[in-house]
Amino acid sequence: MLALTVSRVRRTAWFLAACIFLLISGCTEAKVPTALERVQKDGVLRVITRNSPATYFQDRNGDTGFEYELAKRFADSLGVKLEIETADNLDDLYGQLGREGGPNLAAAGLTPGGDRSSQVRYSHSYLDVTPQVVFRNGEQRPTRPEDLEDKRIVVLKGSSHAAQLAELKKQFPRITYRESDADEMVDLLRMVDVGEIDVTLVDSNELAMNQVYFPNVRVAFDLGDSRGLAWALPASDDNSLLEKVNAFLDKAKQDGLLQRLKDRYYGHVDVLGYVGAYTFAQHLQQRLPKYEQHFRQSGQKLEADWRLLAAIGYQESMWQPDATSKTGVRGLMMLTNRTAQAMGVANRLDAKQSIQGGSKYYIQVKDELPESIQDPDRTWFALAAYNIGGAHLDDARKLAEQEGLNPNKWLDVKKMLPRLAQKQWYRKTRYGYARGGETVHFVQNIRRYYDILTWVTQPQMEGGQLAESGLHLPGVNKTKPQDTPSDEKL
Ligand code: GLU
Repeated sequence: MLALTVSRVRRTAWFLAACIFLLISGCTEAKVPTALERVQKDGVLRVITRNSPATYFQDRNGDTGFEYELAKRFADSLGVKLEIETADNLDDLYGQLGREGGPNLAAAGLTPGGDRSSQVRYSHSYLDVTPQVVFRNGEQRPTRPEDLEDKRIVVLKGSSHAAQLAELKKQFPRITYRESDADEMVDLLRMVDVGEIDVTLVDSNELAMNQVYFPNVRVAFDLGDSRGLAWALPASDDNSLLEKVNAFLDKAKQDGLLQRLKDRYYGHVDVLGYVGAYTFAQHLQQRLPKYEQHFRQSGQKLEADWRLLAAIGYQESMWQPDATSKTGVRGLMMLTNRTAQAMGVANRLDAKQSIQGGSKYYIQVKDELPESIQDPDRTWFALAAYNIGGAHLDDARKLAEQEGLNPNKWLDVKKMLPRLAQKQWYRKTRYGYARGGETVHFVQNIRRYYDILTWVTQPQMEGGQLAESGLHLPGVNKTKPQDTPSDEKL
């Protein structure tokens, strides 16, 4: 009896175990992989974005842009490849995101809110921006929403700005506006710049990025408080990928990555100052065309990027061939008598000779740097050496080493340069006092000018006032930009 019971219990146990096994294996087979698992299994993260200077574009080294850089790092953190898709406009972007088999996420300077919130899930925010009303300098400045009545206003179709205007219109019915799905933000800014329209709305980060190209565009007033930009994921109950995104963005905020990207992409106005950025934009149109050929020729001869040489020239003299300083340096590239002689420059005030001599000198300085300094840092070190001299730069590199920093990384050495002007530090150096702080500014400015020059000289940019000289302003058409600055500048 007992034996019978035991065997029955045993059989029941086996039966149950078999059922559980079948159940589990059945479940496993039917289990749908999560969004995160799918990305990991495919080895690819598909991101949709907009092709614009504030989000994603291509330079001679390939893909770049704030959103691209951030998405690339996220893909790296997952150990997968990044695949970028671009949308023609915001409606298209949201449409693609919602489509079966569409991209995994959208990273495109998106402001959460409005009708779309129900169609997508937004990540934590990664950048605070303020919506700004902009107008053309010289016109009467609107200062409050009611001043927008009777103005020619165009905004991006499906944008948060269009939603803001729809709200305003309820209060001020005489406000009329057009939503454009054919243009990017740069097009709208250009239209304000040349007076084709009176007003547009732009996020403060995009304006900072583009201000230098559109000197007539001015902020009229902020339309509301700042808002956080976020990535968008398709609507779903599956939060696996969203949680990864949020953890990544939170970390990027803490470890300084977001700040570095912000400085890199939106820092033009901060670094140059408003007046500096504005003046540069003007000189780009009025002065550079006269000397561009010389820079190009020197660049070709020395196998250097002519735009970097032009950026040096601007930092030195604002492209003025008769520039003179109290210390006796002269000409467009501000050469000392000694350097001019060494470079074979007979007349320092001759723009062509000055550009040739200065360019040659820059390349010589670069060639003399130690092998251990690799590009892109090598370029920034060369600029520093051009300004302060190789000996002082060497001192700064030694100081970096003593501090446990990397003497071959510009980010590290630039922290040491200002110390060359402080007695407690320079008295311990071999070559003594030097105005290292100025050198940091010198390099920083040139990098900004260089960034701007590379963006405006994209070969695809057709038309514009500078077309004949081969120099073009952005936003004149919608072709895909290429050949812009290096991404290795963080
Ligand atoms: N942040 C805006 C939005 O999500 C788009 C960017 C712009 O219009 O400048 O609608």
